[in-house]
Amino acid sequence: MPRKLAAGNWKMNGVQASLGEIRTLAEAHAGSDVDILICPPATLVSLAAELEGNIQVGGQDCHANKNGAHTGDTSAAMLKDSGAGYVIVGHSERRTDHKETNQQVHDKALAAWSENLIAVVCIGETLEERENGETNQVLANQLAGSVPIGALAANTVVAYEPVWAIGTGKIPTFEEISQAHAFIRGFLASQHETSEAHGMSLLYGGSVKPSNAAEIFALNNVDGALVGGASLKAVDFSAIISALEASA
Ligand code: PEP
Repeated sequence: MPRKLAAGNWKMNGVQASLGEIRTLAEAHAGSDVDILICPPATLVSLAAELEGNIQVGGQDCHANKNGAHTGDTSAAMLKDSGAGYVIVGHSERRTDHKETNQQVHDKALAAWSENLIAVVCIGETLEERENGETNQVLANQLAGSVPIGALAANTVVAYEPVWAIGTGKIPTFEEISQAHAFIRGFLASQHETSEAHGMSLLYGGSVKPSNAAEIFALNNVDGALVGGASLKAVDFSAIISALEASA
């Protein structure tokens, strides 16, 4: 069975005063039977990792190289050294803002694995692609190009995030989420060891809120969520985590 995971992506939000949100989550969900992850900005990774409790910490991106002349970048080795256990790769904001290709995302995932970090590989179609009936083809291309062969349930999480649902308050229908997750599971099984593909956690991301989380978590092949805006405040993210706990 895939592990249940509630992952929060703080994006470019958060200063040291925000660490209190993580403390609150740790208190509210001590002993939780689901995995809880916060990906704060790189400036907070080591401080967040030092906090007591069961909240895991991840980076939001990593460079494919271990070190070198890459001003402003952070390597997987640096994230590991700071106490991270995960790193998001291929978020749509990176694919758009930094023109990241599937090959680059693939190489970042390999870098994550080499440091024993779990790679959270993000994929998802644009609204235009959905309206053109290209969703499955886009997902297949992204999965084939971004998830390295040899992916294991222990080192890879796939986050399905329709680009048009991120930060917009819009979500696909529950039927569309189910269809996308079933397609992703099947495609992963065709490319990777079947038992590993069936054990991988598949997250839905895009405008997950306390008000829609329970219905999303009830869907087949949805093992949790990658949450942006609603992960910034402990009160909201805690409600989403509680919905995942109740579904487990
Ligand atoms: C995200 O950035 O991964 C995301 C899903 O954002 P939001 O929850 O704000 O839509």
